[in-house]
Amino acid sequence: MEKILYKRNCGNCNLLMAYPASQAFALASLGYLWLYKLADSEEGINAIMASTDNIPSKKEFDAIAFSMSFDFDFLGVFKILEKLNIPLYSSQRDEKFPLIFAGGPVLTTNPRPYESFFDFMIIGDGENTFLEILQIIKNNNKQKALELLSEIEGVYIPGKPVKKYTAELNKVIYTPILTEKSYFKDTFIIELARGCMNRCAFCTASYLNLPFRYYEYEKIIDTINLGLQYTNKIALLGAQISAHPQFINILEYLYQKMESGTNIELGISSLRTDAITPRMVQILVKGGQKHSTIAIEAASEHLRKFINKNLKEEQIINAVKIAKENGLKGLKIYSMIGIPYETDSDIQEFIRLAKELKSENKGFDLEFSFSTFVPKPQTPFQWSEREDSKSLEKKQKFIEKELAKIGIKSKFSSIKWDYWQTVLSRGDANLAPFLIETYKNGGSLGALKKALKTTKIDIEKTINGYNTDENLPWDLIENYPPKKQLINEYNRLVKRL
Ligand code: SF4
Repeated sequence: MEKILYKRNCGNCNLLMAYPASQAFALASLGYLWLYKLADSEEGINAIMASTDNIPSKKEFDAIAFSMSFDFDFLGVFKILEKLNIPLYSSQRDEKFPLIFAGGPVLTTNPRPYESFFDFMIIGDGENTFLEILQIIKNNNKQKALELLSEIEGVYIPGKPVKKYTAELNKVIYTPILTEKSYFKDTFIIELARGCMNRCAFCTASYLNLPFRYYEYEKIIDTINLGLQYTNKIALLGAQISAHPQFINILEYLYQKMESGTNIELGISSLRTDAITPRMVQILVKGGQKHSTIAIEAASEHLRKFINKNLKEEQIINAVKIAKENGLKGLKIYSMIGIPYETDSDIQEFIRLAKELKSENKGFDLEFSFSTFVPKPQTPFQWSEREDSKSLEKKQKFIEKELAKIGIKSKFSSIKWDYWQTVLSRGDANLAPFLIETYKNGGSLGALKKALKTTKIDIEKTINGYNTDENLPWDLIENYPPKKQLINEYNRLVKRL
């Protein structure tokens, strides 16, 4: 049964809130659900949910809002628009079509590949900007609305410079609709903090969300208690939640609740390797967590220093030991391959560490998970080259074989999909016909290849990288830190090699 944790409202302005993947994922996406709640509780707005497997039959809308969290979400966007008989290119939509806009981390990173499809996009934190957008769309026709929207900080009108909007964190964001249809069934997710102060040189979770912000302890406790009125599944969210100055106090509060008889299933997606403590793990275990994840990001200590992760081997060994000794059954260790300047000796160092971890933690379920480095805009590595797929495959096979020898499971992201992710990440508006062709050909890896052949777009720069003195497609976005500081940071890191 669905539980709605707010008062709904209604109105004449029909706003379709569309999620470009399945309903289960829509109902698990905190950002999407929170904006849906804002629209659904706003007087004058009739908010309607949609996902790729749940497209309403009603076709008359005043506006359609999409949330894009992943690079390949454009496939779901096109699917929904096509089902609603709406032309994909905004230039082919006149006054009688609804305003169509989007927000989410993919667009804050680089909106340029998608600008032919949306009337405008939200750049940066969405919650406040979205409220302003709601006021404008419910009171104005499409043309007037666009005029007014162009004045709002954080609204990108294709081709015009925009300043990214950064919100102050006041009202804690949590799952406003609890349902067993969600991928995280009946789970009350609470955002503890936003961003990460660590600034690893590839990381958009950090660079798109600077400065690191967190909610006040009292507000978090009130929100936990709100959630516990509806469910026993509580999940704490944030890229670096353990950097919350009262993180351990929040855990202790939950522990006390459990001790006094409240049944709580506690979930934390990952633990910070250099900040993990026995007490933290004990509380997680008491909350029913059996496995957790730590991220080491790069193969060797030298590379971790280069990318600014600054994580020492002894800290990794210590984190695994703490996890094991305090009741977790296993740990997933996440890393990347293909980081700039990575050499075979970095990979060898990683294998040596894996062997050591295995032999010192017999009976503990260790698993390694890898993705390949995808250079992302708005980070110091935005100029870097993407490693050749053949060379990545060689590294992957080697690691897989070496870990299998010592009985460690390993998982790898798809090198081919990561390649295309790089193209999308660093592309510009010229990608538009390529995206449409990919969708029309079915959205598979074969479709991407075929679309490239048909459209003949030039993707050389997206793969080989850019020079620091070149104009970048996403220079239109005024971000913090600005480009000059990213160049300085990149140079500082290269000097440490
Ligand atoms: S510690 Fe994690 S979240 Fe923080 S910057 Fe590094 S990779 Fe990103």
